[in-house]
Amino acid sequence: MPELPPVETAERMDRLRARFEHEGCDAMVVTDLVNVRYLTGFTGSNATLLVTADAAALVTDGRYRTQSAEQLEASGVEASIAIANDPGPELAAAARGITRIGLEADDVSWAAQRRWSIDTFSWAHLVPTEGVVLRLRSVKDAGEVARLEAACGIADAALADVSQRIHDGLTEQQDAMADHGSDGPSFETIVASGPNGAKPHARPSDRVIGSSGGGEFVVVDFGATVDGYHSDMTRTLPVGTLSDTQERMYDVVRRSQAAGVERVAAGVTCKAVDDTCRDVIDDAGWAEAFAHGTGHGIGLVIHESPRLSSVSADVLEAGHCVTVEPGVYLPEHGGVRIEDSVVVTDDGCRLLTGSPYA
Ligand code: ZN
Ligand code: ZN
Repeated sequence: MPELPPVETAERMDRLRARFEHEGCDAMVVTDLVNVRYLTGFTGSNATLLVTADAAALVTDGRYRTQSAEQLEASGVEASIAIANDPGPELAAAARGITRIGLEADDVSWAAQRRWSIDTFSWAHLVPTEGVVLRLRSVKDAGEVARLEAACGIADAALADVSQRIHDGLTEQQDAMADHGSDGPSFETIVASGPNGAKPHARPSDRVIGSSGGGEFVVVDFGATVDGYHSDMTRTLPVGTLSDTQERMYDVVRRSQAAGVERVAAGVTCKAVDDTCRDVIDDAGWAEAFAHGTGHGIGLVIHESPRLSSVSADVLEAGHCVTVEPGVYLPEHGGVRIEDSVVVTDDGCRLLTGSPYA
C-alpha cells in the first residue's frame, strides 16, 4: 500500500478545548474509548482522559504502560500518563481547582456519574455534554480521508473477486476480503440473495445463490478497515434473468442513489439528501419499501455522525465522509440497495468507492 499522509492527531485536543466555552465547562473527562483514540492515538481497551485548558492526563492500567507511551509519542500528543486500576484519584489530582468539568453524557452510566460527582470531583460542578468529540470526528483531515479511501479501494478489489465467484454457485457465507490487505472486515459482511435480500440487515446464510431458479438479486454490503478507518459499500448483483419488476427496482434505486450523491455538498442538510433519494422511490410507488435512512458518517466506527435521514438535523460540511445508500425491499422480488461512500466538498462530493454498479 502506498504511504498515506499523516493523521493530525496532535491538533485535536486544541479543537476540543475551543469547544469548552460553548459547552459551559473548563475541562472534560473523555471516557468513550473511540474518542480517547481520536484525541491521543491510544488504542488500548481501558483509558480515561482528562483534558483541561492547558494540560491533559491519560489514565490506563498496567497492561498498557508501554503501548500508551509509544502511541502518544508517535501521535505527538502532549499528555501525562498515569497507570492505575481506579482512575479517580489521578484525575482528581489533575483537575484540582477546576470547577466546571464536562462528562460525556452518552457514555457515562448513572452509577458512574454518581461516582464521579461524589467520590472523584466532589468540589466541582459536573456538566453533561453530548456529541462534542463526535462532532469533531465527523470532519476528516487529509490523512483520514486517505485511509478511508484506501479501505474503500480494498473493498472494491474484493468485490471484483466476489462478483466473479457469485456466478459460480457460491454460498452467501464466503467472503474475499482478507486477500486484499484489510486489517479486518469493517463490519459483518452482508451477502443476501433472493428472498433474503429483502431483509436490509440479513446475515449471510448457507443459501446457494441463484437457487430460486429465476432471476434474483444478491445484495453485498461490506467494508474494510485501514488504521481503524472503516469503509462501507453495497452493490446489488443480478443473477439469472430478472423479471420486469426486478429490472424496474434496480433502475429506481440506481436513479435514487445517483440523485442523492448529486445532492451532496457542504451546506446542504442531511434531510435534503434523504428527501432527494426518497422522492425518486416514492414516485415509483415504493415509499413503504424504503424503510431505513439514506446514509451515515464513516470513520473510526462504521456508523457515526452525521446521519442522513428524514429526522436528521445535521448539515453537511466539507470533510464529512458519508454514505448514500437507498434501497427497495419487496419480499416477493428481493432487495436492491446501492451504497457509495463519499467525501463532502464545498461544491459537491468525491466518490471514495469506485466499483461498477452492475
Ligand atoms: Zn453498508
Ligand atoms: Zn452503510
